[in-house]
Amino acid sequence: MEAVRTCVGCRTRAPRSTLLRVVSIDSVLVPDERASMPGRGAWVHETQECVDAAIRRRAFVRALRVSGPLDTQTIEEHIQRKG
Ligand SMILES: [Zn+2]
Repeated sequence: MEAVRTCVGCRTRAPRSTLLRVVSIDSVLVPDERASMPGRGAWVHETQECVDAAIRRRAFVRALRVSGPLDTQTIEEHIQRKG
């Protein structure tokens, strides 16, 4: 059975293959499309709605347990390209 993760945007549980793993590198939020980067990751649907909701609710900061603000520009551009 496939592992299930919770989307930090809409709080819905979903198979991990349907979610995007996101990690923070030097306080920059980056997509981990192969889900292979080390360290703590957050999972989110690859949609504008879920990414926006997660940023608004500071869910990435909480999920990744970082102290300061995160640079979300990279992940926002990634999602916009997916359109
Ligand atoms: Zn979601």
